[in-house]
Amino acid sequence: MQLENKVCLITGAARGIGFGIAQRFAAAGGRIAVADLEAKEAAAAAATLGDATRALGIAMNVAEEAAVDDGVAKVVAHFGAIDILVSNAGIQIVHPVEEFPFAEWKRMLAIHLDGAFLTTRACLPHMYRQGRGAILYMGSVHSKEASPLKAAYVTAKHGLLGLARVVAKEGAAHGVRANVICPGFVKTALVEKQIPEQAKTLGISEQDVVKKIMLANTVDGEFTTVEDVAEVALTFATFPSNALTGQSLVVSHGWCMN
Ligand code: NAD
Repeated sequence: MQLENKVCLITGAARGIGFGIAQRFAAAGGRIAVADLEAKEAAAAAATLGDATRALGIAMNVAEEAAVDDGVAKVVAHFGAIDILVSNAGIQIVHPVEEFPFAEWKRMLAIHLDGAFLTTRACLPHMYRQGRGAILYMGSVHSKEASPLKAAYVTAKHGLLGLARVVAKEGAAHGVRANVICPGFVKTALVEKQIPEQAKTLGISEQDVVKKIMLANTVDGEFTTVEDVAEVALTFATFPSNALTGQSLVVSHGWCMN
């Protein structure tokens, strides 16, 4: 199997895209650490993937240095290694720039950027010791494009491209690759929440938010699925050489073609 016994730490994996990647990686033979804010939810998600020898749930707020360091130490103590990190945890907060509360701006950057940095920093020594590893960052079409009201999200998702490129350059000598996946709209809780919010803000129906805003620029009016994103994640995680590192791949039904 492609991920035979490889230890995969996935953040924000109790639900949504992270959980979909956890399911796909488990099906490919990986041993999975499901990290999320609440221990109970992480454990419940892990229990659906296999017994304690195959899956572990851990509480980890990716924006907190001690929580990340402790969580990564727990994964290594449990499974003996970390082969793949998927830095996926994320949220969305929307405001026009001139009204964006500074505290919410900082919270967004902390979860997306501090989280990516802290988990990377904690995992790299383990990957370097074994001379191999793969790191995937969950970017977005918003790593390449902008949308109104999403200043903090767009800034954070663009920032991940820079981090991945540096990790790709530093990690190459140690067999570690780093890449970014950039999905279009995927119908998870994060997006379900935005549909009524945007309908209210824009004074249009929820159907029009989906059709005229979210999917207007796709080639076929379709949402990207969790399964689509998980398949791309598997390709990045298992690619056999440094030919695929420091890259970003958009999976968005043609919404973005950069
Ligand atoms: P989701 O809300 O369904 O899941 C996000 C998960 O992250 C939740 O389980 C949540 O508890 C967890 N989380 C939030 N803050 C955390 C923190 N500080 N520490 C640890 N875990 C935390 O969202 P999703 O749609 O699955 O999004 C996952 C990732 O994919 C995010 O980075 C998001 O920006 C990105 N993304 C989503 C879409 C989309 O359309 N859904 C598109 C492009 C990129």
